[in-house]
Amino acid sequence: MQPKVSKFGGTSVADADMIRKVRAIVQADADRRFVIPSAPGKRSSDDQKVTDLLYLCHEHARQGLSFDEVFELIARRYGEIAKGLGVDAGLDSKLEVIKGEIACVAAEGGGPDYAASRGEYLNGLILAEFLDAKFIDAADLIHFDKRGRLDEDQTYRVIGEKLKGVQLAVVPGFYGSLPDGSVKTFSRGGSDITGAVVARGVGASLYENWTDVSGLLMADPRIIDSPKTIEKLTYRELRELAYMGATVLHDEAIFPVRHGGIPVNIRNTNRPDDPGTMIVPGNGSEKHTGTITGIAGRKDFTVIAIEKAMMNSEVGFGRRVLSVLEARGVSFEHLPSGIDTMSLVIADSQLNGKLDDVLEDLRAEAKPDSVEATPDMALIATVGRGMSHIPGMAAKLFGALSGAGINIRMIDQGSSELNIIVGVHASDFEPAMRAIYKAFVG
Ligand code: ASP
Repeated sequence: MQPKVSKFGGTSVADADMIRKVRAIVQADADRRFVIPSAPGKRSSDDQKVTDLLYLCHEHARQGLSFDEVFELIARRYGEIAKGLGVDAGLDSKLEVIKGEIACVAAEGGGPDYAASRGEYLNGLILAEFLDAKFIDAADLIHFDKRGRLDEDQTYRVIGEKLKGVQLAVVPGFYGSLPDGSVKTFSRGGSDITGAVVARGVGASLYENWTDVSGLLMADPRIIDSPKTIEKLTYRELRELAYMGATVLHDEAIFPVRHGGIPVNIRNTNRPDDPGTMIVPGNGSEKHTGTITGIAGRKDFTVIAIEKAMMNSEVGFGRRVLSVLEARGVSFEHLPSGIDTMSLVIADSQLNGKLDDVLEDLRAEAKPDSVEATPDMALIATVGRGMSHIPGMAAKLFGALSGAGINIRMIDQGSSELNIIVGVHASDFEPAMRAIYKAFVG
């Protein structure tokens, strides 16, 4: 039987009660053989994440300040967890070593990675003892090259060797090691990546990502009242939704599982009977469900509309336009175009004070008939398999928006048939989302 890899996020391992739920979940399925914990997250909205406290310790140490008080909070947190679970995990001596090492790394001018990684490390030790599982340090499995990129060859080879035949193991998330042996973390939220890498390395049948929601929602619950959960979507659909703001998995976590063709199941530790959301490889043969998969959107875009008669027959026009952006160090998000028009959709964070220069350069370089910038734009992506190829879907989308009196300022169907992106004024953002949701979901 191929194993399952089960990653538990910060809230799922925030205290002893939660870790008991984790054990019940792991023990309920003998295929759950590789368990990846995060560091203890928030127990309530005003609580602190252990990882944040660890970064703070490093920062204090770096500035030559005492970090005793912050470290004491961390020590107490783990002490409570270990006591609540009745495990020892050699915690006291481990904490002492870690405290000394944080001071040492900072004194030698090292970065915060070692300190930050200890949240997962300690939680891994505790969880391994509580599950009666083997503890395998992520520093021995996950390898980065000297430029800090995952060394895939070495990592997958070592995972293959060290995890082979292991019945039940805990591998802490978030970190690995550099060629010189020092600890390096992924970016924040990176335990998701560890889980995905381990899943690919062991050829898992499933990568379970246990969190505090029962899957990915069809729309942002701050805008839509109790949106439905997405039962199933493909990696590509997830990528489209995530790009537009839906967060559920770390962006980089999708690549290892996608490469290995391993499905991902987002599950809720507090409601283990909920099926959650399945993210599947998708080979293009999925049937069109006749409805959408989800809606996501982002504000703070500017659209620069360029018009020039006969632009279609002017060789090099597109290059001249884009070279202006390149010269100004501005990246663009989308590039919808018509016969004599081309629009540049750019995130405001990219423009940042450069808009006037960009417009001036465009006039000089591309000699357009007109160039005009529209600020305060929001983009909404309506995502679904077959979205832009099934005639009724587009009609329904545009009908819903016009029915709600919303002026569509831009349409981008792109070349993927997965989504239709519309640009609306920022003040129409929420009403547009509601209109689309209502039309497709009810
Ligand atoms: N503990 C790390 C963070 O807070 C990594 C993770 O939880 O995935 O970013």
